[in-house]
Amino acid sequence: MSVSLTSRTTDHSSVELFSFSFFCDNCGKEWKSQPIPFELGGFTVIENEEARQLVWAQEHRTAFDRANLEAHFHFNHCSESGKWVCDECIDSRTGSCTVSINNQ
Ligand SMILES: [Zn+2]
Ligand SMILES: [Zn+2]
Repeated sequence: MSVSLTSRTTDHSSVELFSFSFFCDNCGKEWKSQPIPFELGGFTVIENEEARQLVWAQEHRTAFDRANLEAHFHFNHCSESGKWVCDECIDSRTGSCTVSINNQ
């Protein structure tokens, strides 16, 4: 699994769905990824529980990487603190987050 974009994330994944939340590093505003259904690795049914869990773990990892990648479009990178913040927490003119600006 890749390193998550924002420092705080929540995993909502269940047996049937993969979904994750990412939170703005400054204000904690939530962005929730579109749920992705567990597709059993393309099989119709997996009888073996161990195999099912392995396939689930693999799809879970892929789903997280996808959500993590998509999160780049919902958060902005602060050039000063390196944080990933929501649209309200970034100054598009300077490219710095509001916390970095206030600390100047
Ligand atoms: Zn924010
Ligand atoms: Zn900053």
